[in-house]
Amino acid sequence: MADKKPQQGNTLAGRLARLGLKSDSDFVLHLPLRYEDETCITALADARPGIAAQFEVEVLGNEIAYRPRRQLLARVRDASGALSLRFLNFYPSQQKVLQPGTRLRVFGEVHEGYLGPEIIHPRFHVVAAGDALPEGLTPVYPTTAGLGQATLRRLIEKALARADFADTLPPELLQRLDLPGFAEAIRFLHTPPPDMVQAVLEARDYPAWRRMQFDELLAQQLSLRRAYLARRARGAPRLAPSAKLTDALLRSLPFRLTAAQQRAWREIAADLGQPHPMQRLLQGDVGSGKTVVAALAMLHAVEAGHQAALMAPTEILAEQHYRKLAAWLEPLGIEVAWLTGSLKKRDKEAAIAKVGAGDTPIAIGTHALIEDKVEFARLGLAIVDEQHRFGVRQRLALKDKGSFAHQLAMSATPIPRTLAMSYYADLDVSVLDELPPGRSPVTTKLVAEARRDEVLARVHDACRSGRQAYWVCPLIEESETLQLKTAEETYARLVAELPDLKIGLVHGRLKAADKAAVMAAFVRNEIHVLVATTVIEVGVDVPNASLMVIEHAERFGLAQLHQLRGRVGRGVDASACILLYAQPLGELARARLKVIFESTDGFAIAREDLRLRGPGEFIGARQSGLPLLRYADLEDAALVEQARAVAEDILRTDPVRAEAHLQRWLGGREELLKA
Ligand code: ADP
Ligand code: MG
Repeated sequence: MADKKPQQGNTLAGRLARLGLKSDSDFVLHLPLRYEDETCITALADARPGIAAQFEVEVLGNEIAYRPRRQLLARVRDASGALSLRFLNFYPSQQKVLQPGTRLRVFGEVHEGYLGPEIIHPRFHVVAAGDALPEGLTPVYPTTAGLGQATLRRLIEKALARADFADTLPPELLQRLDLPGFAEAIRFLHTPPPDMVQAVLEARDYPAWRRMQFDELLAQQLSLRRAYLARRARGAPRLAPSAKLTDALLRSLPFRLTAAQQRAWREIAADLGQPHPMQRLLQGDVGSGKTVVAALAMLHAVEAGHQAALMAPTEILAEQHYRKLAAWLEPLGIEVAWLTGSLKKRDKEAAIAKVGAGDTPIAIGTHALIEDKVEFARLGLAIVDEQHRFGVRQRLALKDKGSFAHQLAMSATPIPRTLAMSYYADLDVSVLDELPPGRSPVTTKLVAEARRDEVLARVHDACRSGRQAYWVCPLIEESETLQLKTAEETYARLVAELPDLKIGLVHGRLKAADKAAVMAAFVRNEIHVLVATTVIEVGVDVPNASLMVIEHAERFGLAQLHQLRGRVGRGVDASACILLYAQPLGELARARLKVIFESTDGFAIAREDLRLRGPGEFIGARQSGLPLLRYADLEDAALVEQARAVAEDILRTDPVRAEAHLQRWLGGREELLKA
């Protein structure tokens, strides 16, 4: 775990800091990963492979060997046999201890090694003959390089002796939720009673663990909820509209809003009419039609005499929004400003000046919108599209361009409900849970790389009959340069393989103007096959493109594949997404591709992704600014819901208690959440 991070100093304090251990509370809440049974000694001759056990042995000698890596080997024996202890990472102090004649208790699994039976990286400590065995299970704590279990255990014991164990939850609540008291649970987990059975204690639904999980979730909910309430208390302009502009837009659209869009729009309009800032997430699968809802919200702000801004994570997406919104809004007499990093200096300055003077009611752009020199005359609504692509800080920076702006975040990454409750407890959520009618479903095919020729023929046929295709290059996460090279090679190869088709290439390193030119040509159907890196993952909307090929699909994340696939199936033609994969497939890759093959439901896919990868990776915990949960499981819907309800209740009725709970669990770290 923490081992891979750069060294924070090799002092004890540095190592403890790496584990987040400072206060007594930190130590007390540093709970065992598992327990080991050191209550008895197994004879070496009775060791069974794959089963961890404790042995008491005498050291015969040690040596540092190079085979090929530098390692420490020690020979040990007991009355029944002998074996080797092998350490691939070790400290000089460890070698010093392993002197001939020293008596050790060694804990680990015996394997058949190169030189006969061995234990790799055993835990061990020096004992004298006849030293008593522990009476109960031994806790094993999460640790970091250079910090031994014995040291950590000693420090935790000291903290346990000193710490404040006052319960932060009232007894009635504990009784209602059927949870043990804090002090009781903590002592139990650190120092289980002698007769405790290992498997029972390690089961995470054991009452003492439930208490820790609940406390942890409660701290998270309290902190998010408190931040939400603080922002809400700030006040925002009540945007009372005349509904003239929004009605005019609705009349001019070639389609009717879906029921889901109507509902989301009502929820947003209600928020905008409140005297405190909206903090809402509009969540909807790719193609569910979030943009038009955003347009309505912006018009609402404009009618009320304010400005609105929409920020997107990429130039391509921002430009597409700009084109679409300008086409919708300019006929209504609403000017739309366009602001990205790639604009010519003069144009950019002109746009900034207009926005600053309040001459343009609506601004659309990329990160350029949150640069320091951009100031809005009267920003009333800040919208961030594909919000998960931005850090928390960037997401909030846009609304801070107005002194009291309402905030709308949009995301096509469907977050399972429980995750949404945890990660967005500071946001209200509207969901677009239906797609506009008339979409043709996308057929997904899994095709082995060996059958690439058939895929080429299919692309050729589709394009000859007037349709268009995306060809997505393999993802190379480690290196942008390599990614670029692959994209160019793929492009060159397709140009050669499909000589009668027009092929285009778009990737992240292209100059914005070139990128825009390629996209525009694709929109005009002057390019048949668009070779692309994942820059097209978000938002791109070309209804005539009905075929997508993804090379090395096994390298992509599930959510990413789902987003990519959402680029097709936007028109009336039957669409297909072909996932090319290289053999042999790993087990996880196979499981992932199976999910994407079997399901087109973004929520189901997200849930599976979460299950396969774990929440940390799923949400990008570092980006979200949230500390990872150590004990609780975000899939534990019932507990998350309980924690949420209790958090609201405590904040209302007993802020002192809330503060005490937060102090215990988050200490100074709560700042992280407020970014
Ligand atoms: P996303 O939610 O992925 O951002 P978009 O807003 O880009 O989706 O919408 C996808 C496409 O569907 C666009 O071409 C949009 O104009 C169209 N669209 C949106 N709402 C409807 C609707 N109610 N009926 C038909 N088409 C719609
Ligand atoms: Mg979109």
